[in-house]
Amino acid sequence: MKEGSSRKQGAATPCAACKLLRRRCAQDCVFAPYFPANEPHKFANVHKVFGASNINKMLQDLPMHQRGDAVSSMVYEANARVRDPVYGCVGTISSLQQHIDVLQTQLALAQAEVVHLRVSQTRYISNSGPSPNSPTNSGSPSPKIMDYNAKPIFDMDMVVDQASYGDSMWS
Ligand SMILES: [Zn+2]
Repeated sequence: MKEGSSRKQGAATPCAACKLLRRRCAQDCVFAPYFPANEPHKFANVHKVFGASNINKMLQDLPMHQRGDAVSSMVYEANARVRDPVYGCVGTISSLQQHIDVLQTQLALAQAEVVHLRVSQTRYISNSGPSPNSPTNSGSPSPKIMDYNAKPIFDMDMVVDQASYGDSMWS
């Protein structure tokens, strides 16, 4: 009836923001592109943490092509703040930072061990002389071992972290 005719002016259904704020969703609604009606939870936390008028202001101050990123980061921060009211996303950042420190220490230890093994291997080879009794390898394996140790450990952990921290927050 009355509602049906007023909706015609805006979108067919109000965006998630306008629905939560119980206002009419205008055709040029700032929220509409980033808070679709089918993701109501996305706006709820952002609204709780930042407030709708602040979000509105922040988006208005940004050029169009940066608004999507801004919304993503606000959603991330708001979800982190709701989960951890004291530290918010700083908690995530510092725990990842600690993780990096631990991994860098592990990496340094592994590299030191590689050097140690390489030195003792060289000593062993030169002690046993140039005779062809060691069919294993001659000099080249060390860099290969280092690559194998260094890269996968670090990359894999980061991927696991991103998956566990990121997924629920960004959606
Ligand atoms: Zn709207």
